[in-house]
Amino acid sequence: MERYARRLPARLDELAERIARLADDPQDPTRRSAALTTAHQLRGTAGSFGFPRVSEEIGKIDDALRHAGKRAPIDMAALSAWLEAARELVRSAPGLAQPEVASWKARLLYLGDDADSSARVQELGRRRLIEILPATTLAEAAQHLAREETDGALVELPAAQGDEADELASRLQAIPGCAGLPLAFVSADEETPSRVRAANAGAALFLPKPITETGLDDAANQLAAIRRATRPRVLILDDDPAFASLAAHALGSGGALARTLSRPDELLGLLESADPEALVLDVRMPGGIGGLDICRMLRTTSRWQDLPILMVTGDARPETRLAAYAAGCDDVLVKPVRADELRLRVKLRVERRRLQHARLERDPLTDLPLRRFFVERLRARLSEAHRRRLPLSLVLLDLDHFKQLNDRHGHLAGDRALAHLGHLLAARFRSEDLRARWGGEEFIVAFPGERAEIAAALAQGVLDDLKRSSIEADDGARFSVSFSAGVAEFPRDGASMEALLRSVDQRLYAAKAAGRGRVAHREHP
Ligand code: GH3
Ligand code: MG
Ligand code: MG
Repeated sequence: MERYARRLPARLDELAERIARLADDPQDPTRRSAALTTAHQLRGTAGSFGFPRVSEEIGKIDDALRHAGKRAPIDMAALSAWLEAARELVRSAPGLAQPEVASWKARLLYLGDDADSSARVQELGRRRLIEILPATTLAEAAQHLAREETDGALVELPAAQGDEADELASRLQAIPGCAGLPLAFVSADEETPSRVRAANAGAALFLPKPITETGLDDAANQLAAIRRATRPRVLILDDDPAFASLAAHALGSGGALARTLSRPDELLGLLESADPEALVLDVRMPGGIGGLDICRMLRTTSRWQDLPILMVTGDARPETRLAAYAAGCDDVLVKPVRADELRLRVKLRVERRRLQHARLERDPLTDLPLRRFFVERLRARLSEAHRRRLPLSLVLLDLDHFKQLNDRHGHLAGDRALAHLGHLLAARFRSEDLRARWGGEEFIVAFPGERAEIAAALAQGVLDDLKRSSIEADDGARFSVSFSAGVAEFPRDGASMEALLRSVDQRLYAAKAAGRGRVAHREHP
């Protein structure tokens, strides 16, 4: 908004210049249409981004130019008066003289009651352009998170209170809108049990205390990268660059990653790599292809058939809206578009689409993704691990004597056991860890960035829980179940996905041979 406000005077200068050229030759249709285009765009964008009175004045220019014909000459004096009124409104608008705010690279919440440590992290953050929002209580954290779009949270753990981590993490993530908030735990205790607890509680990172400048910088980059993967990706195509960048700003402040384009021919080349989850499309654009054509074309391309498309138009006539819906768009917004309305409509479309996709990808019994989707994501995670020289651990789990269990307790009881393990796997670990039902009574989990020892300890925790749980048989009796698991680490145990899967399978077999109900992460358990 502020950025747009700063650009408004230049946009008005542009309009003034076009009106001046028109004044030289009021009958020239090219000059008239140039002035009309600029006025029309300015009317829409100024209104959309909080300058309704500027929009009103420019609107008079827009209307006058549009309706001027052979019999009704343009009243140039009136145009100048409206333009001057708009300029005066902009000159007197507050905040325009403010300098550009320093742009932060990332914004992190810091939750901890150690004032020294908090002050130190804030200072380190300033040096690295990382904005730190300090909070000593969950209530304070909630206030920050409600107000500001945040990339992640650093949570300080008092040394001997690792158990509180789970509690703290889940309460932090229960704050509305923070379900996927990436977490890093900060602790002086670097022993494996603490790290396992942190990973179980959903921490993406574990930072040793005291935090160093480079440690903070790395953490900010990683948390922001995780956050980015969960933010809605939106493309905006509008020939008016001012509207496009304003829409991008409006969506960005709501947490979306928005990219703007001004020419229809740029769109096709970018779709694949940008992989948008919604498209904001201008109906009318100069040149051959308009928004309606693009819409129709996308609807006949299987890859983009269900992409949410929101059309934006300056033309409020019902025919225009109908034509947009007929071309296959999902929603039509008439300029001036309110920023909050655009944000909300895009958000709802993206959320709905994600839900639909999640349903398609999931196995209904265990509510975990199916093997096919897991493999696609694992491939991406492995190439990322390779690029960043990080480990990735894989765990393959297979329920023990499951055939027997089905025979003894009934097939429905077997199903309940599968669903129970599915829930255990879904509820634990970090949101970026990948889980899936591999097939039958086999499950798989990938831990990007984690060593095999940690992954094995995490799997052992699930196994302990599973052994303790009691599942109801068809005849009302209660029983428990165990699994065997193999663990392998990329690239140490396999440098390709195929090799890694082979080695995890061998270790699972070894765990079975060694007596079942165990986790194997070395050649000989
Ligand atoms: P092991 O300890 O060696 O793994 O023995 P097992 O009996 O678990 O292994 P096996 O591969 O011989 O049998 C797997 C059984 O899992 C056979 C199949 O009926 C059962 N199963 C596979 N999918 C499902 C399912 O969706 N529901 C139920 N109830 N059973 C399933
Ligand atoms: Mg099996
Ligand atoms: Mg089995």
